Amino acid sequence: MRDPRYDVLFEPVKIGPVVAKNRFYQVPHCTGSGWQRPRILADLRKVKAEGGWAVVNTEYCSVHPSSDDPPHPSASLWDDGDIKAHALMTENVHAHGALAGVELCLGGARMANLETREVPLSVASLPNLAGNPFQTRQMDMQDIQEARRWHKNAALRAKTAGFDLVYVYATHGYLLSQFMSKTMNTRGDAYGGSLENRVRLVKEIIEDTKEAVGDTMAVAVRFSAETNGEYGGTDGNPVPGETEDMFGILGELPDLWDINVNDYSLEMGLSRFVPEGALQPYVAKIKAMTTKPVVSVGRFTSPDTMVDQIKRGVLDFIGAARPSIADPFLPKKIEEGRIEDICECIGCNICYMGDGKGVPIRCTQNPTISEEWRRGWHPEKIARNKTNASVLVVGAGPAGLEAAQALGKRGYTVMLAEATRHLGGRVSREATLPGLNQWSRVRDYRIQQIDQLDNVEVFRESALTADQVVDIGADHVVVATGAQWRTDGFGLNALAGIDNLGPPAAVFTPDDILSGRLPTGQVVVYDDDHYYMGTVIAELLQSKGVDVTLVTPADLVSSWGAYTTDRTRAQKRLMKLGTTIKVAHGLQSFDGQQAVLACTYTGTRIEIKANSLVLVTARRPVDALYNDLQAIQTRTAAGAFKSINKIGDCDAPAIIAAAVFAGHRYARELDENIDRDNPLKHDRVFFNDN
Ligand code: ADP
Ligand code: SF4
Repeated sequence: MRDPRYDVLFEPVKIGPVVAKNRFYQVPHCTGSGWQRPRILADLRKVKAEGGWAVVNTEYCSVHPSSDDPPHPSASLWDDGDIKAHALMTENVHAHGALAGVELCLGGARMANLETREVPLSVASLPNLAGNPFQTRQMDMQDIQEARRWHKNAALRAKTAGFDLVYVYATHGYLLSQFMSKTMNTRGDAYGGSLENRVRLVKEIIEDTKEAVGDTMAVAVRFSAETNGEYGGTDGNPVPGETEDMFGILGELPDLWDINVNDYSLEMGLSRFVPEGALQPYVAKIKAMTTKPVVSVGRFTSPDTMVDQIKRGVLDFIGAARPSIADPFLPKKIEEGRIEDICECIGCNICYMGDGKGVPIRCTQNPTISEEWRRGWHPEKIARNKTNASVLVVGAGPAGLEAAQALGKRGYTVMLAEATRHLGGRVSREATLPGLNQWSRVRDYRIQQIDQLDNVEVFRESALTADQVVDIGADHVVVATGAQWRTDGFGLNALAGIDNLGPPAAVFTPDDILSGRLPTGQVVVYDDDHYYMGTVIAELLQSKGVDVTLVTPADLVSSWGAYTTDRTRAQKRLMKLGTTIKVAHGLQSFDGQQAVLACTYTGTRIEIKANSLVLVTARRPVDALYNDLQAIQTRTAAGAFKSINKIGDCDAPAIIAAAVFAGHRYARELDENIDRDNPLKHDRVFFNDN
């Protein structure tokens, strides 16, 4: 059972009128589901509560149609019709002895109300902070009174829905941050000017909420410790601001402080750029200013670090969004003394992508997140095998490793064959790149699980041919042999490839870099992939003293990386390192002396000096083995195998999370009757009248 060192993490903590059973607190986090997918959410949160989190919160929850944020999915409590969806969640959370919290939100100038077409309201006439061409109306006294009423009514609905805790959301640049801001609040009335006036609305809303529901519900305030008056990042270095003075007014009003910073790219920093516990300098000073419990986040996955935070008095609750996504059972595993079974977050922010794209959250480490209801997947439980069949998994990248461990847990006899001496495939290789070392956790967790399974055997240095696979005689074969970066320039911007790329000795791909073949001289890194690989390779080479020009046909560096917060930080780092950046230019040719580029708008050509070219464009599935096996399967009358499948990058090259998902799905669905016409349940919103 649990190590007594961790007892402090399991102490109950009082939050106003309610008591949390331990110190594990799932802070509000985006789920990509919002009000549109209530059942997906209710079961996602049920699993968190079951996994031992004492408090489980919603994502931001709009209180009125004038706080409407599409395409980012938010929850809503606009009217009584919204209550039923939330009640699904609170019942599920209560069933496991946890408290349910809701993060009420007024959007202000961060929301353009694109769906509802309500005029956005803010402290002043401000540009939309998300870049939409919709300026806000400066709220008059009636607007302010109405906003207070909407918030209060939403709190009352939250109470009816069964919540135990309700938030006043006063950070991340939403309406209440705008009121508190020295820069944005230019009012001359009782809500502007002095600090006391700028915090007035926050104070009133906290008081309204306490009066309305505070007898039975705890009132939490989410607040930025970065009160230097500016929206945006201070990059890990707190600057003297107004925090002390604001806390002099607000410090004892709520029942709990949830402390973070305005800058998402720091608060939920990528492991590539931001270490664990990065908010500590901000949070420590807040804790000294209030007697109320304090929660904050820090990508905490180590129980020793958690204990240290509590014992040093930095935090009362261990806040988590991502660690609770990567492993919903993290508290239970600490409680049961199963530390080595924790599936640690790698800090890649693929989960955050769901919010930007408006789709259910996914996770590189946890393939079951958002699938609890619609596919019936549980992170810790998997159906036993229905047959005694054996399975050969070929390739031990993320897809093969995940398939092998999940098949093993089902009880199959599993053989995992890997061509090289090393397990992990692309994650092992990519973890050697700058900032990506935590990606090896994808491999390490799975190897750790496999090591506990007697029915899974691993064969290294076993590059299998089709004949060898047949000779092994497994019932089922699943091929997970990955993909290789292309050398012909084929990619989004060149679907017919690029002619005239040479000489071969001067042309590189990420696979070359990862196997230690590095370019020299003046190097063009050509990024037609648009995620992290182009900028990571540019960073690697530039920091080795190579003169790098990053060229991309997109308008932005790492354009897809915007969804994971890679983009801005990657560009900033490259600019600081001195990398030359050329956007909106496609590669036309390269001859070892120069690269010819063409503007993606005008076609105007330019030549730049380059001795080496790194092509980061697209990947080619390594599927020859699968194709050979498929041919054997077809020409053998009874079939050589019960089934033959391919998964992961060898099937369709994509992000690591997709490979893990494919491996998991294969394992879950083997020998099961899956209705291919309806492979998953379709969540739908409730109508107000049912
Ligand atoms: P994915 O992301 O789909 O898991 P990876 O490229 O990370 O794919 O991993 C594929 C793995 O398959 C690599 O470790 C590679 O060495 C291995 N592999 C490729 N071909 C064979 C083969 N014929 N036999 C065994 N292993 C193979
Ligand atoms: Fe962590 Fe990545 Fe999973 Fe998000 S997607 S929880 S950052 S491992």
